[in-house]
Amino acid sequence: MLKISVSGVRGIANESLTPEVCLNFAKAFSTYLKGGKIVVATDTRASSEFIKGIVLQGLFSCGAKIIDLGIAPTPTVGFMVRELKADGGLMVTASHNPAQWNGLKFIREDGIFLNAAQMGELISLYDKKEFIEKKGGQVKHHAKPYDAHINRVVRSVKASLIRQMKFKVVYDAVNGAGSLITGMLLKKLGCQVIPLHADPKQPFPHGAEPTPINLVDLCEKVKQEKAVIGFAQDPDADRLALVIDGGEAVSEEYTLALAVQHVLARSLSSNRIVVINLSTSKITEDVAKAAGAVVVRTKIGEVHVAEEIKKVKAVIGGEGNGGVIYPKMNIMRDSLAGMALILEMLAVSQKNPSELIAALPKYYLYKGKLDCSGAGQMEKIMESAIEIFKDETVDLTDGIKVYLPNGSLHVRPSNTEPIVRIFSEAKSAEKARQTAEELIVRLNP
Ligand code: MG
Repeated sequence: MLKISVSGVRGIANESLTPEVCLNFAKAFSTYLKGGKIVVATDTRASSEFIKGIVLQGLFSCGAKIIDLGIAPTPTVGFMVRELKADGGLMVTASHNPAQWNGLKFIREDGIFLNAAQMGELISLYDKKEFIEKKGGQVKHHAKPYDAHINRVVRSVKASLIRQMKFKVVYDAVNGAGSLITGMLLKKLGCQVIPLHADPKQPFPHGAEPTPINLVDLCEKVKQEKAVIGFAQDPDADRLALVIDGGEAVSEEYTLALAVQHVLARSLSSNRIVVINLSTSKITEDVAKAAGAVVVRTKIGEVHVAEEIKKVKAVIGGEGNGGVIYPKMNIMRDSLAGMALILEMLAVSQKNPSELIAALPKYYLYKGKLDCSGAGQMEKIMESAIEIFKDETVDLTDGIKVYLPNGSLHVRPSNTEPIVRIFSEAKSAEKARQTAEELIVRLNP
């Protein structure tokens, strides 16, 4: 099935994501940008190069001046759009989806993804095939696609302090778009770099999402090499997960929590605002508030976070899925930005990642479920949940998310089974379970 959403277009290459879909979306995007300057790159999937060829043809036929970065992370495309004063960017990737998938991500001139209204305009051009084909198309290959991005990241941290530490670092790029640029960045920061799964010519060696279950090799390598930290990316290198000293893969939530804690500690800016999405753990919220910052929560979807960061001039923001957005470096989730900030934090604090994580606030997640196989039962349960929480701060983007003083509750219908899932986050495992079970009793009298 072809998925068209605020995150772009995704499908299985050559099945739902046909060459015609790619060609027409490229023509629609070039028409939308009036054939301006467009930065293009791909991740390392087997189908990416083929799809890029089609995309270049579509953009070219509508008069675009294309700058081809070759294989590059999504955040590098976002950065280069601004750096080169381009009108937009197009990234060929299906992010963390499995290898047979691919997709297109659309970036506007300020280095942020198209928002829902802008995607609506693009989809309308695509649906009606209202393409303005014209002459004047050009394709230029960028000889040094990574340098400007790396330099910006390095210049935005205390690089000499990091270099003095000569950190031993392993990184697992899942053989994706981060494979080469990540090694280059870490070397520039004086690290002893041990690449793992950093060959863009090889397929993904494990599940594409940088969640602990997929990081067994990285844990082993960090332990074996006695490295101070392991970094893991997804195939388009916007998300960053950590393996700490000793070789333990920790929740992706800690990446943003540490980055936020560090940036607020060193920031002299009086504008202490942190923007995170609704599903980000309270760990980050607590860390930000403890540092005197105001926390703004947005709807789920990176563009909502990035637009809010820009609007309120937040010092940092992002998503709990390992998505650090540090506007001094980039206004997109950027694993390279995340790595540099965390290395700087290690250098400044003179602490190991395990010590930094042990000092973070603790939250526990309990998962419960409610059977609703009877006719209309799911709707009834969701209606009573809305009634129960009518006086609380709730978000209805995806089921019902309720913010409580010391945790949160998320009630959402399963997409695959006749059940409603209850996620309860609290300060203790017992409290998380108790809150969820009390709610289950109220929802299922
Ligand atoms: Mg991604």
